Formats: sequence, C-alpha cells, structure tokens
Amino acid sequence: MKYEFRMGNLLVKLEELKVKRVGLVLPEGLKVYADYISDELKKNGYEVIISGNFNYGACDVPDYNFDEICDCLVNFGHAPLPVESEIPLLFVEVDFIFPYMKILEKNIEALKKEGKRVGLIATVNYVKELDKVKKYLEDEGFEVFIGKGDNRLKFPGQVLGCDFSSASNISDKVDFYIFVGEGRFHPLGVAISTEKNVFAFDSDGIYSMNDYKDKILKERFGAIFRSKDSKKFGIVVSTKRGQKRLSLANIIKDKLEESGFKSDIILMDEIMPDKLYGFDYDSFIICACPRIAVDDSKRYKKPLLTPKEIEIILDGKEDYEMDQISQNDF
Ligand code: SF4
Repeated sequence: MKYEFRMGNLLVKLEELKVKRVGLVLPEGLKVYADYISDELKKNGYEVIISGNFNYGACDVPDYNFDEICDCLVNFGHAPLPVESEIPLLFVEVDFIFPYMKILEKNIEALKKEGKRVGLIATVNYVKELDKVKKYLEDEGFEVFIGKGDNRLKFPGQVLGCDFSSASNISDKVDFYIFVGEGRFHPLGVAISTEKNVFAFDSDGIYSMNDYKDKILKERFGAIFRSKDSKKFGIVVSTKRGQKRLSLANIIKDKLEESGFKSDIILMDEIMPDKLYGFDYDSFIICACPRIAVDDSKRYKKPLLTPKEIEIILDGKEDYEMDQISQNDF
C-alpha cells in the first residue's frame, strides 16, 4: 500500500490562515506517518501538537483543549464534513494506491454475469480513481453510473460508513455496484441500504458482499429480537461533533415514553463496552456513529440498537433500514 499526502496544498492553506501552532489528527492507519508529517511542518516553521486519541472520521473533531494550544486543526485522510470547530479545521485527503485495476481486469468476465449497468462507489481515498474505472468498464461494454450524494459528501461516488446517498441516488439505474477501496465496512452499508449486490476488492480478488450482508442482518434481527422485552432503554449520544444526534435522541425518548417505556439519555465522548457495563438499562439505542451498533455490538453485554431498529420494535416496521446520518439529525 502506498499513500500520497498532499503536503504542498496543506502548506499553502496554512500560509493563507497565518497560523503558527498546528494540531494534527490522524486515523489509526496513518498514525505511523505522524512524525513524517510533523517533520514536514516543522521544516516550514510550524509548531506541531499531535492528537493521540483514536480518530474515526471527519465527524470526530477533538473537543478538548486543542483550541487553547493550537491555532488550527488538520485532519488527515478524510473529506470535509459540515462540523463546528472553535479554530479553523482543515482536511487533507490522502490518496491510497493499490493495484485494483489488475484485479478488475482478471475478474471482468465474472462481473459481466451480474448485469450491464454498474454503479461505482469509493471512499474519499480512492474517489479520484473512479473516472479511470468508469472508462475501463465502458470500454468493456458496461453502462456506468457515479451518483451524487447529499451535502455531507464532497465527491460524486463518495460514501461514508454512515452516508450512502451517492449509491442510493442511482439505485434504480444499476444492476450492481463496484466498491473501489478496501475492506468490508463501506460496501456492507451500501449492500444493506440499497439491497443490491456490491462487489469489493481484497488483495487478490473481487468478491460479493451478499454472504457477509446476510450474516450481519441476521445478527441485527437477533439484537432486535433480544430487545423486544426491554422495559428500560439507555439512549446513548456521543459528544463527537459530527455524531452528536441529540435532537434525534430526544425524539426517540419522547416516543419511547409515549409507548410506556422508561428511557434516559446518556452522553459520552467515545462509546465503549466498559462505559455501558455498569448501567442497568435492558438495551441501548446508539445516537452516534451508526456503525457502533451494526458492526461492534458483539463487544457489548446488552443489545445495542440503531434509531432505525427501534422503529421496528415501536412501529412494527418489517423492512430493515440502515441507519445513516444526515444534517437534519443535529
Ligand atoms: S459517524 Fe461513523 S461512519 Fe460516519 S463518518 Fe463518523 S466514524 Fe465514519
């Protein structure tokens, strides 16, 4: 894996802002480059403070004291989101490079069996590759679509783990999707939210998300079933600025209480199993990153539900809907 950091662009922006003390925020996979980035900035006369906390996305703006010791924050590896910050917040998109084109060429005949109309999606780190992939697939006879998402997505075709609008917006036009990127996190969300087959890459092949999607949905219906007899719900809200769905939590609280259930809102920064362990609620509803309930619930003792999943219990909805974040949630 290779990464391309756009340090030149960052230096221009820092110069324009006339700042001196720069706070760096990096996701786990890029922390190994913290000293390289820091050296580049120091060479250019900046002072650097590095956040040692986990960073999960552009939604995750440090809410502790950085504004007192830094003049600006720089988040690496994510595209901008409309989140508030006391000091200027810059995003440096990092391009990842891996040989997906070769894998695509090797598997093109198998993909042709899936249909002629394909939607392309990617994380921000690969989104600039989509035009190249589109051209290749069109030359192979596919009709290719790249959708535009809502105002939380900067690029056409870009998806977040909590926002698949660029995929759903073209869902009626495509037979299946190809996810250009790595891992199962993002393509899983697209597969659940669009109910279409999604193909994702790994280091030596391309595979359908269907089996994994079915496994996760089974787990989610298991959690919903286990929550059915709950009398007391803890509604957990994160203080992370791009995840803080407090208005939604209040709506859910009112609805639960109207239906005769007991509920309280619990506020915390990072949501972790140990922090919920001591509470005596029967189930928790997570009004923060939707993926905590969907992907991580096995780490928790009590069932975790998303705001969409509690609707299945309260309103008797039958269809599963993936929880996503929109600006209206805040
Ligand atoms: S809320 Fe979760 S999925 Fe959405 S950007 Fe933040 S960490 Fe990623």
